[in-house]
Amino acid sequence: MEPVPAATILHADLDAFYASVEQLLEPNLRKRPIAVGGGVVLAASYEARSFGVAAGMSGWQARRLCPGLHFVHGHFAEYQRLGDQAVAVFRDFTPRVERISIDEAFLDVAGARNLLGSPRDIAVAIRGRVRSEVGLPVSVGVATTKHLAKVASQVAKPDGLVVVEHGEEGAFLGPLPVELLWGVGPATRDRLAGLGIRTIGDLAATPGVVMNQLFGKVAGNKLASLAINDDPRGIEMDRTGVSVGAQAAIGRREPSPTVVRSTLGYLADRVAGRLRAAHRAGRTVSVKVRFADLRSVTRSATVPVAISATLLITELATKLAGIALDDHPLEREITLLAISVSNLVDEAALQLELPLTLEDCRYRPGTRFASALWAVDRAMDAVRLRFGRGAVGYATNVYTDAERVPDAFRELAEHDIR
Ligand SMILES: [Mg+2]
Repeated sequence: MEPVPAATILHADLDAFYASVEQLLEPNLRKRPIAVGGGVVLAASYEARSFGVAAGMSGWQARRLCPGLHFVHGHFAEYQRLGDQAVAVFRDFTPRVERISIDEAFLDVAGARNLLGSPRDIAVAIRGRVRSEVGLPVSVGVATTKHLAKVASQVAKPDGLVVVEHGEEGAFLGPLPVELLWGVGPATRDRLAGLGIRTIGDLAATPGVVMNQLFGKVAGNKLASLAINDDPRGIEMDRTGVSVGAQAAIGRREPSPTVVRSTLGYLADRVAGRLRAAHRAGRTVSVKVRFADLRSVTRSATVPVAISATLLITELATKLAGIALDDHPLEREITLLAISVSNLVDEAALQLELPLTLEDCRYRPGTRFASALWAVDRAMDAVRLRFGRGAVGYATNVYTDAERVPDAFRELAEHDIR
């Protein structure tokens, strides 16, 4: 039986990304017409766009349109960091994420509906979390195809959500201007306008033979397909990577047991949450310790059964860090800790978690403790998806005042399963 098509593809696109980041970093720029760039406008805030300022325009032309326009230099490292953060939020909802640029991605949430609600609910939650955790507005389009989801997100801007349910595609697309179609720039638009074709509906009603005469067979067919929402492309995830990891630069710290365990607990929490969101688990846990002289050492352990429980990964990582530190007794300070989990398997194959290198019999499969770990992790994942990462945490990851690590995780870096 053919599955009923459903609108489960999301296109999430941060609004006026560079300009929004500048306004986030510098509150004085908020609600003001600003442009990133100088000689040429790289990006413009919505306040500037309302004067007609657009990316690609020369600086003097932009200033003429908008005399109060304020130019700022770009902070490209910040764009990368905040774009990565937003994509990390997307990945909390589904592993099926295809990032197509620094600030936009496609997501397929078909498999997340049972747990997280309708695609609309998921889109609302994503927008809320990116706003509260990253500080930026993101527009989301939801539809049955990638092409239509992208059109919907453009219609949703700024800071909006548009859902096009299955069956509504034609009615939605028909009245929209042709330039919203993928690949239709000003030249194509003008050429179509010359034939009286202004809307996507006009285009859909144009005979294929006319389109082919105009644009050639390949481009003509492509345009005709998009006009009727015929887009078979699926989400393409880069599957080359085989591990998930996170690291935290912690300044120069004496590696006290509390600092090490708290930091690793925090990192294990990130890593394990990502694994579970991707329905995966791993058999190899590696820990990297970087010393103050920039040398680093890595210690790994492979356990017989793949694991994804936060507490198990914390325990194993803490032991591995202990081994690394014992091997380097002369090092007084560390500057970075990292965890990565590899040797990944699909969670479907897993029933129980038992890392045999941990002697503690509480971790044996089938014990109440092992089941409790599983239940606590899942409950935590569910609460965080709805209310954000900060909503709940593991008590072991809280610093005592005496051991406080200021700005410990400012430089948190993560890599995902690919
Ligand atoms: Mg964008």
